[in-house]
Amino acid sequence: MLHSKKTIQILVFGALTLLLLLPNVSIGAEELIVYSARKEHLIKPLFELYTRKTGVEIKYVTDKAGSLMQRLKAEGKNTRADLLLTVDAGNLWHAAEEDLLRPVDSAVLKKNIPSHLRDPENRWFGLSERARTIVYSTARVKPEELSSYEALADSQWNDRLLLRTSKKVYNQSLVAMLIAEHGREKTEEIIKGWVANLSAQPFSSDSKLMEAIIAGQGDVGIVNTYYFGRLLKKNPDVKLALFWPSQDTSGVHVNVSGGGVTKYAKNPTAAIHLLEWFSSTEAQNLFADANMEYPVNPQVKPAPEVAAWGEFKANTMNLAKAGELQAEAIMLMDRAGYR
Ligand code: FE
Repeated sequence: MLHSKKTIQILVFGALTLLLLLPNVSIGAEELIVYSARKEHLIKPLFELYTRKTGVEIKYVTDKAGSLMQRLKAEGKNTRADLLLTVDAGNLWHAAEEDLLRPVDSAVLKKNIPSHLRDPENRWFGLSERARTIVYSTARVKPEELSSYEALADSQWNDRLLLRTSKKVYNQSLVAMLIAEHGREKTEEIIKGWVANLSAQPFSSDSKLMEAIIAGQGDVGIVNTYYFGRLLKKNPDVKLALFWPSQDTSGVHVNVSGGGVTKYAKNPTAAIHLLEWFSSTEAQNLFADANMEYPVNPQVKPAPEVAAWGEFKANTMNLAKAGELQAEAIMLMDRAGYR
């Protein structure tokens, strides 16, 4: 009798151990629904791999960040979305501020993602990193002439600077981070200096800005690294290069593409598991390399084509500031005449 009880105990223990050791145990949901402002071709391969590994089907809707957030808000408790993916900390911060995301307590996410690239209240997490840095004409500028974002306001760059529109969240986040660092007054001076140095009206995209440097409309500009990567793929001999500013001070302005679990997720545990997987060494290169971005997980190296642009010191101020100071950044840019 005793013996058989022990046998049962061993059997149960064995079965539990086996279940824990199996790599693809069920995580409590057969289906997840994702709202994504990150483009379909960047996320679909990840979803497919995840489904192959876990059996969890992923349905998704892609749209602009603003539309997806409005939809989540309108759907409220009835939403079927478990996860929101979007680009820029400014957008992620807004989603959290609108109470569309829930706090997630995950040791895995905390370990895999540096703290400045995730919400201090754990509602959103950066999953890939992009640097917004200086691009310059190798024909007309020597890298020694460059130093920082702030220095682009110097008279040396008069009639030589190109910027993308201030309506783009990327620039709102950049200016918000400058405000966080320098305060309102000094930042306004810097932005006024930028505007005074413009050699053309602000552009609608980073790619158009770089085309304009190639065409000789200006000599320097500020762009996200992956747009430079795309240009380099099309034209390997392009006479442009990236410069890493502010290396002796605050570092390069970085931002993220990331996500969070929706407040009314029907499968929150499974949604957290998917986020954790995105941050893992297994998925980080797939997530980042598809858009020539940097992995957020320090254990994972960027793709060789990205690593070729050189190493840099990044600004490690928490990106929540990009959201907190966004409204102020927009008003400041308006006052400074940055359109
Ligand atoms: Fe972009």
